[in-house]
Amino acid sequence: MITAPNLSELPWLRHGFGTRHSDYPVEITTLRQIHSCVVLHVETERGDRIAEGDGLVTHEPGAVVGVRTADCVPVLLADPVNRVVAAVHAGWRGTATRIVPEALARMTHRFGTRPGDVIAAIGPSIGGCCYEVGPVVARQFGTWVPELEQTEVPAKVNLKSVNSLQLTQAGVRNIWVSQNCTYCSLDFFSFRREPDESGRMISFIGLA
Ligand SMILES: [Zn+2]
Repeated sequence: MITAPNLSELPWLRHGFGTRHSDYPVEITTLRQIHSCVVLHVETERGDRIAEGDGLVTHEPGAVVGVRTADCVPVLLADPVNRVVAAVHAGWRGTATRIVPEALARMTHRFGTRPGDVIAAIGPSIGGCCYEVGPVVARQFGTWVPELEQTEVPAKVNLKSVNSLQLTQAGVRNIWVSQNCTYCSLDFFSFRREPDESGRMISFIGLA
């Protein structure tokens, strides 16, 4: 299990980014992920794949929310002032449609979270070293990476950087970014490296 140093400083919280070898001892509430920008709020209903969407927010003591990934970007958010947390699955579609700022907005509307208070952690995903996409997909990231705006050829995209930039633009200052590439390292499942037999890692966050 990989942990983020900035989230580890919060004693009221538990979190982790799974690897290929991880066991998950806690009950984790998850969604049926659909590469959307849908973020839901967990109150009483808990369990596996409770609804469709790609981000979960909770402030319930004991609730642990998680997302499954294998190359896509897992993002964990914590508001230590209001004790609200979120887990987000950001693949290229979710990143292009700004699912992480959407999760932040949901925390703000529901719980009064101020982005400047938020601790964010961006977990292991396929890195800019290995993630090449066609020009149509690459151009969707032109807002954040200007050289991709007009590209006519396949290009490498760093989804962790784009999500980090989106957080910065939303006012979040405390952001940890994992340097692990799920494609480069065999410690992780990678959908691109093993499309037929890839498992999924779970990244989770919750109130202890
Ligand atoms: Zn790589």
